[in-house]
Amino acid sequence: MINTLRKLLSIIKKSFKVIYAYILYYTGISNYYLLKRLNNKAVVLTYHRVLPYEKRIESYSHEAIMVDPIRFDMQLKALKECFRIVDINEFSDLVHSGIVEGPPACLITFDDGWADNYNYALPILKRHQCPAIVFVPTDYISSPLTFWQETLGQQIAKIYESGTSDAKELITKYGFPDTLSGNDITKNIIIRDYVRSLKTLPYNKIDMMMTDLTKFHGMNGASKVDRHLTWDELKELHKSGVAVGSHACTHRILTRLTQDVVETELVESKNTLERKLGESIEAIAYPNGDYNDRLGDLTKKAGYSLGFGTHYGYVSGTDNLYDIKRINMNDNTASSKPVLLATILGIM
Ligand SMILES: [Zn+2]
Repeated sequence: MINTLRKLLSIIKKSFKVIYAYILYYTGISNYYLLKRLNNKAVVLTYHRVLPYEKRIESYSHEAIMVDPIRFDMQLKALKECFRIVDINEFSDLVHSGIVEGPPACLITFDDGWADNYNYALPILKRHQCPAIVFVPTDYISSPLTFWQETLGQQIAKIYESGTSDAKELITKYGFPDTLSGNDITKNIIIRDYVRSLKTLPYNKIDMMMTDLTKFHGMNGASKVDRHLTWDELKELHKSGVAVGSHACTHRILTRLTQDVVETELVESKNTLERKLGESIEAIAYPNGDYNDRLGDLTKKAGYSLGFGTHYGYVSGTDNLYDIKRINMNDNTASSKPVLLATILGIM
């Protein structure tokens, strides 16, 4: 009962925000504030996956990192009307020179190196002639494995399907949701929300759980939809004008690792990308956006000139260029042009 009320309140709150976003847009207020707030500043947007709705039933990635291709197309059109879309080199020049002049600049970034960036995002980026940069975790490129979140989601779904006493034991042992009710889409959402709630669990506990579940299923692969780019696809993206940056090697949160391991993640991912793509890699996006000053120092020492985090905000030339702010994009934060602008303004 309390949960239903909570959900209802959240829907009402969201609806009011959307109405507010439309009022701001059609009265010209959002455009006015955009120019005022972004004066001498740039905005960096974070995308992850560009995947059609009908494919998502096979995916265990959370909705918060998804954009439908039709919506992505609408977003690029809207962004081009309000911003100057810059590539990573122009962005770097702007922020390093300390001045961000002219119409507000916008850099489009993708994290995680999902194969859908090649299949769905690239044709749309090309059609709009929009530059972008994709940050890839090198260990997952051309690998049959994916992140523990997607793997775990798939394994939990199979546990419920199996219904054996061993499966029930695992459900109790790890505190998985008691029952999965509703249709396949609802069940999938319950699993993805549950997996997302484990994000801060220590790595040794996650490893233990994964080992147990892999033993139960005898498999550790990912759903076909939750696949990362191959090296050929990444090279093709790169040839088509999409820049490439590092997202470390293993996608582990760097602030949780020892200094030696962090140095290896930073240096090896950079070296691998430089060797494969034949050009210098200057930018990194930290997995999960987690940052501290030690990480900033080590990133600089490893030879990067830009480090991207996930704190909300705009970028000015005087900011810490090893913890660059970004704004997350998904289906809900940018469902229409008025909502997209309201998200960038920090209203949604
Ligand atoms: Zn990531």
